Amino acid sequence: MADLASRISKPDAATADTPAAADKPIQDDTSDLIKNTYEVEVKLGGAQGDSDNPLSTVSSFEELGLKKSIVEGLLALNFKKPSKIQERALPLLLADPPCSMIAQSQSGTGKTAAFVVTALSRVDFSRTTTPQALALAPSRELARQIETVINQIGQFCEGLKVAAAIPGGLERGAAVEANVVVGTPGTVMDLIRRGQLDVSQLKMLVLDEADNMLDQQGLGEQCVRVRGKLPRDIQILLFSATFPEKVMHYAEKFAPNANQLRLRQVELTVRGISQMYMDCPSENEKYDVLCKLYGLMTIGSSVIFVKTRESANEIHRRMEADGHKVSALHGAFDGQQRDALLDDFRNGKSKVLITTNVMARGIDVSSVSMVINYDIPMKGIRDSEPDAETYLHRIGRTGRFGRVGVSISFVYDRKSFTALSDIANHFGIDLIQLSPDDWTETEDKIHRVIKSQRAQADYKPVSIADDKESS
Ligand code: ADP
Ligand code: MG
Repeated sequence: MADLASRISKPDAATADTPAAADKPIQDDTSDLIKNTYEVEVKLGGAQGDSDNPLSTVSSFEELGLKKSIVEGLLALNFKKPSKIQERALPLLLADPPCSMIAQSQSGTGKTAAFVVTALSRVDFSRTTTPQALALAPSRELARQIETVINQIGQFCEGLKVAAAIPGGLERGAAVEANVVVGTPGTVMDLIRRGQLDVSQLKMLVLDEADNMLDQQGLGEQCVRVRGKLPRDIQILLFSATFPEKVMHYAEKFAPNANQLRLRQVELTVRGISQMYMDCPSENEKYDVLCKLYGLMTIGSSVIFVKTRESANEIHRRMEADGHKVSALHGAFDGQQRDALLDDFRNGKSKVLITTNVMARGIDVSSVSMVINYDIPMKGIRDSEPDAETYLHRIGRTGRFGRVGVSISFVYDRKSFTALSDIANHFGIDLIQLSPDDWTETEDKIHRVIKSQRAQADYKPVSIADDKESS
């Protein structure tokens, strides 16, 4: 317990104006994304090492020499300047001859646009039915989201045709006629095997959430199998907020001679997210604490992460019976249901999503201001180890692109307490304690963060992507 205590800010620290931690201002987070105020470790792979200053950074999208149609697409989304990862990665990604890349940057910092712009720059749009770029994602939801971003940024690229290789996303048996394909590895592999997806002209492969894609059982093998079918000299891009050392090894094998943009461990947390924890009296009482939280507060949109589909269903059922309006989304639903559930959440029709790790990664809904870890993420045999990466990705569903948000992790016994403490130590996080015995204070601590978000709304970058979908 002492471990966690050392990571907890003093009980009244949250009453300061900057609830995340007194010494970490959240106000200027947006500009942090734009300015290079923190360091990225850059490792140049292979031939790139001695080329002419591949690191020259740019301060506008125009200066990257992107096609006019792409710049127009970015401007239409109100992307005024590249974020740091975009600024750093794009010159390397667009250089010729193409070089692979392993790129790491915090959640919500615009990794998607970095690889989407690369794909759109490499595709020859006069060949509308020849797949030339392939992006793989670990979930159906993320694949669909990436498809949307490609279509948005590429809205002025005449001839762009995107296909979603997800279950139910394509006509059965027909050849994939598109120049950009985005999908999940299983479906993509099936399409290749059945001869419906011609991979011979692919110039580029992206793995989003690459550490998860390479490490997770099943997914990893599928990715390797897909890779084996592609042209040898293909440009490979691996993107994620996390690359644990263990996975880096596979990543370097999967994308040999890749350039690398990496962050130091302690720079992985997003400053705008105030990370809190709630000391619940017992496992059973976690549910009461949850209801109390929702009874007390009106919070924008929020996501509740639980361990299993069953407990997602169970909490959903109980909360509905208790008069809360919530929805549950997990892998047991069929594709159409999942799409509809997430669409409703995106456009604000539903505000509380109870879900499993299926939604932990990549999902970008800017209105999410609170994430609850109802169960602390665990991994390994019989959930023996805390899953630090999943924690980071889950809480990263809030605090998107410089916005602020709150995460509340529920602990109730020694095991959950130690697990959270280990995660906090791993990333050097200062957690703020909330007490189920003092709801006035709890409400106050949370509201301070959420309010500061409203106060900042004027000068924060607004993502048209979300606004469009919510209309
Ligand atoms: P990541 O993959 O790094 O977690 P995303 O690519 O999902 O982050 O981007 C997070 C949000 O930031 C998205 O809503 C996106 O529209 C927005 N965004 C990305 N790049 C920019 C930019 N240069 N200017 C403004 N908003 C941006
Ligand atoms: Mg992402």
